[in-house]
Amino acid sequence: MIRVLELARPDILTLQPYQHAAWEPSLERMHANEMPWRADGDPTSAGLNRYPQPQPAELISHLAALYGVEPRNVLAGRGGDEGIDLLIRTFCRAGHDSILICPPTFGMYKVSARIQGAAVVEVPLVKANGFALDTNGVLAACNENVKLVFICSPNNPTGNLLERCAIEFLCTQLANKAIVVVDEAYIEFARTDSIVASIRQFENLVVLRTLSKAYALAGARCGTVIAHADIISLLARVITPYALPTQTIESVLKFTDEAHCAAARRLTEVLLSERARMSELLSRLPLIRRVWHSDANFLLVECVDAARVVRAATAARLIVRDPQQPTLPNCLRISIGTPEQNDRLLRGIVAAGTETEGVA
Ligand SMILES: *Cc1c(COP(=O)(O)O)cnc(C)c1O
Repeated sequence: MIRVLELARPDILTLQPYQHAAWEPSLERMHANEMPWRADGDPTSAGLNRYPQPQPAELISHLAALYGVEPRNVLAGRGGDEGIDLLIRTFCRAGHDSILICPPTFGMYKVSARIQGAAVVEVPLVKANGFALDTNGVLAACNENVKLVFICSPNNPTGNLLERCAIEFLCTQLANKAIVVVDEAYIEFARTDSIVASIRQFENLVVLRTLSKAYALAGARCGTVIAHADIISLLARVITPYALPTQTIESVLKFTDEAHCAAARRLTEVLLSERARMSELLSRLPLIRRVWHSDANFLLVECVDAARVVRAATAARLIVRDPQQPTLPNCLRISIGTPEQNDRLLRGIVAAGTETEGVA
């Protein structure tokens, strides 16, 4: 057992996991209380009458190849969100332990911590420095109850990539003290490599990846936790045995084959050129004060009056998001759309800027 596992909840380390029905595809199943007949029109190849294989071997090898790691380093779950929740449930004792987050950041870390009864320590990103990581601040705040440090890179909602050497420095300094969770939900939109290869070097590094963003599979619900094999085995005891539905397993294999991956890369390039175009055009509009640099598939914009921009978007039949972070007043997060949607939003904001609003 690697030493970082000592950070896990003792009751999870000794947990006797649920013994799911044996997976023996060469034999016919009379051991799982399933119906022996398929439902009419069942479109799946495995049959929806059957329980799916827990952590299906073919899917796990496929995801491992996709992310450039070994199958033993991979756990698949229902989106990155399930990975976040599992990590917190596995490592944080309710009422005792904490996670550390760097706001403004993704809201699920805090929600999952609250659900588990874990406290949340906050060390803000440095706005004056393009929302950079406050590495020394993080280290200073890591007392012995902080089990997980969540680093979102590229960060949602600010869009920027965090410095890789700063993250690796945290891994070194926190060895055997805390796990560094790097959430790379948007890494495919950043012109840089994932940090996954570094799991070989750091036992306390956990990386989260998802098919929801660049692979256009948000509805399939498939996220991957990538870490040292011992961490993966521990999480595998906690995850619900049949986490991934048959349709998810089959869709992921189908829609992340070589041809679909090539298509995803081409569309990502289109999206990146739209991101550059939107960034440039938005920053020239009188209602927009500032457009932050983005390494993701969205832009954080600071408006003169965010409510007015929201109304303009709604009038153009588009929704944009107020990230609702105290440090981001008058800011909106705009997902990059199709060229047509982007044009429609721009036209809407231009039109709102030329109207004289609120003048009696
Ligand atoms: C979208 C997102 C995720 C994961 O989403 P899933 O659909 O659950 O995979 C994780 N982290 C961040 C920062 C995200 O924005």
